[in-house]
Amino acid sequence: MEKNEKIDVMKIIDPYARKCKGVLTLGRLLAALSAFVALIPFYDIWKILKVALNGGERSEMSSLGWQAVILTAVSMALYICALWCTHVAAMRVQANMRSSLMRRILTLPLGVFDQSGTGKLRRIFNGAASAVETYIAHNLPDKAAAAATPIGLLVLFVIFDWKLGLVCLIPVILAFACMMRTKGKVIQQKMSEYQNALDVMSSEATEYVRGISVVKIFGQSVDSFRRFKKAIDDYSSWSVTYTKLMRPSMVGYLTFVNAIFAFIVAAAFVLIKGEITTDIILNFTYYIIVTPLLTVTLSKIAYSGEQEMTLIDALRRISGILEIEPLPDAESKALPKDDSITLDNVKFRYKEDTDMVLRGLSLDIRSGEHIALVGPSGGGKSTAAALISRFFDVTEGAIYVGGVNIKDIPQKELMKKISFVFQNSNLLKTSILENVRLARPEASEEEVMKALEAAQCMDIINKLPNGIHTVIGAKGTYLSGGEKQRITIARAILKNAPIIILDEATAFADPDNEALVQAAMEELSKGKTLIMIAHRLSTVTNADRIYVLNEGVVAESGSHEELMQKNGIYAKMFDEYTRSAEWRIRR
Ligand code: ADP
Repeated sequence: MEKNEKIDVMKIIDPYARKCKGVLTLGRLLAALSAFVALIPFYDIWKILKVALNGGERSEMSSLGWQAVILTAVSMALYICALWCTHVAAMRVQANMRSSLMRRILTLPLGVFDQSGTGKLRRIFNGAASAVETYIAHNLPDKAAAAATPIGLLVLFVIFDWKLGLVCLIPVILAFACMMRTKGKVIQQKMSEYQNALDVMSSEATEYVRGISVVKIFGQSVDSFRRFKKAIDDYSSWSVTYTKLMRPSMVGYLTFVNAIFAFIVAAAFVLIKGEITTDIILNFTYYIIVTPLLTVTLSKIAYSGEQEMTLIDALRRISGILEIEPLPDAESKALPKDDSITLDNVKFRYKEDTDMVLRGLSLDIRSGEHIALVGPSGGGKSTAAALISRFFDVTEGAIYVGGVNIKDIPQKELMKKISFVFQNSNLLKTSILENVRLARPEASEEEVMKALEAAQCMDIINKLPNGIHTVIGAKGTYLSGGEKQRITIARAILKNAPIIILDEATAFADPDNEALVQAAMEELSKGKTLIMIAHRLSTVTNADRIYVLNEGVVAESGSHEELMQKNGIYAKMFDEYTRSAEWRIRR
């Protein structure tokens, strides 16, 4: 979707509104009808005034009054029915939209979730779904009513005194002229900037809340979170600029739209010449009474435009995600022959026109071999691991699992082969049993228990009130980073995939946890092909082979002893590591 392309909102919504078009049209018709009916009482008021000024019967006035009340009630009832119809349609469209988006999400490369952040994706989808719901449930009936009202009003305005009627239209034209000063395209762009500023500010706020302990412990202020502060400053400067931009048109619009009656008073002085008859007083009073209706209708039209722009922006954000190419699933049904992994001259960049992150990486990992990826931060270790699991496709070169190019292995089969244990383990807000069982839904409680035992989780289970049935995150049940990681290891043990990719945690708060996580990892990797992304060199010395990755290529490889003898990058890193460990102990 082009940034400034004219968007037909209904056309975008159409595919999601398949079975509810009838109810939606009915809702819009009822809203328009309700708007027409709502105008008739104003005619009754005119008649009541006429009877009153001409000294007519009270009974006639009272029956006209009742007619006005009943018609107002009918109009309200019609509007409620219209809302009911549009709400039904809105719920269906929203549900269709969510489910089709979810289906689409499942086809996207896994790496997208890492890159965009699941929070951001959720906000975009929820934002679009609720903007669509508000638009269909409220804006569409309001728009239908707002379109019907001016037609009825025009009739009402000109049938009694066409001159006064035309005078009422002057401020309306002036009000709209003021609004038009700020072009729709500019407002649309501002709306987009507003959403961007809001998105950045909320994701920075999440980061800030996550790091609040550091802020508190070190007595820092919000200034220490520069990006968060910048996001707030950007948002605030955006608000001020936008307010200033809109001020002249808004002030002009509101002044004219609320001053219609003042025009009538002024016009009365000019137009009424000679004797003031009861008919003149009648028409004049009538116009004073009816003009607020025009104000309300115009405001509805003006604000419905704003909501439509919010919706357009939300739909644009969604299309940004929908434009991401899904990873093509393998056409052939080739299955890996063993548990070996080969990276053949792999080159990879995250985005076009950026530098290669991997610049010709070749690795040869045999079935059952335990290897470690080490090296300076940013060297490409996590990227290489993500490519093996096909979070993204390689830019050049190829990756083979069990002798088969991973592009030819069906996604499901590849996922069965590999278990990935991340550093920041995510657990769902459900019981520990269900969290572990995600790996193999048909596993029995006993099997889950065994996996938990192997992953050294029994101390966690024993201290929780409902054992493995305790819901994580509920009633203040929170687990530490190390505990969470052990539960994810239990999940991987239950899955029992032959290839394990472990992103080792960088830091542990307490040594007990560290020892338990180490033991759990050893249990998990027994007899498996293991790729460990190691951040602390103490854990790699036993690896069959260590690859030192630097700037996207293998700088050195070999066993710990071989690499120490080489006296290269690894030996230097290891020396530094040992020295810093000693320093920590002496301290
Ligand atoms: P390591 O795991 O060795 O620390 P990474 O594989 O995480 O290294 O990163 C390698 C390079 O790729 C770094 O320069 C990093 O900034 C970049 N990078 C990592 N993830 C992304 C991403 N999602 N989008 C763009 N660049 C990324």
